[in-house]
Amino acid sequence: MNAATHNTQRRNPERTCAGCRATAPQAELIRFAVSDAPPYLAPDLGRRMPGRGVWLGASRRCLEQATRGGFARSLKRKIEVNADTLVDQIEAQQQRRAQGLLLAASRTRVLAVGTDAVRDMLMNASLLWVAEDAQNRRDELTAMAERLGRRCVVFGTKAWLGHTLGRDEVAVVAMHRAGDGIATEVASLVTQVALLKGSTTTCRRTSTNG
Ligand SMILES: [Zn+2]
Repeated sequence: MNAATHNTQRRNPERTCAGCRATAPQAELIRFAVSDAPPYLAPDLGRRMPGRGVWLGASRRCLEQATRGGFARSLKRKIEVNADTLVDQIEAQQQRRAQGLLLAASRTRVLAVGTDAVRDMLMNASLLWVAEDAQNRRDELTAMAERLGRRCVVFGTKAWLGHTLGRDEVAVVAMHRAGDGIATEVASLVTQVALLKGSTTTCRRTSTNG
């Protein structure tokens, strides 16, 4: 327990947001890898790209501040980046990464696919993942997940989830707590990009959401 806690702290130091200049735990920030050639910055959602990184708070405001001079200040060079272009790049990377995590969960057998399998796993699940267009099924399961205190994300379409898993449409999956590391990465990936775009990520029903 002590070793694990220590390890988490060591891997999660504070970093400065290139936009607002506030410091925050690394886990809450989005990493960009720095390179010597234009455009000098590449989103690194997996945090595995080598070399120097700059960090950004997951909010549209931080992003705007960073593209209007914050990144240039951090990198000490003139940088021309557009907030919307970066969001597009981040979303493309998010899709690829989400697919990788989904397949990793499937490979390591911590993934339940489909309403019945998810319902059976939910008691021991770390994460519930609902497709954006899975309207009817998600109410019962998300209510159950909320009661149990499970994390829940909404990401991707039924067709996309199905395609990733080599099936027809998939409306809902869950990850077993044995795959908590993967589930944590998924939750972070989905939440950060949603915050960056100013969109909602929660499974809770809202007035605009049928
Ligand atoms: Zn910030």
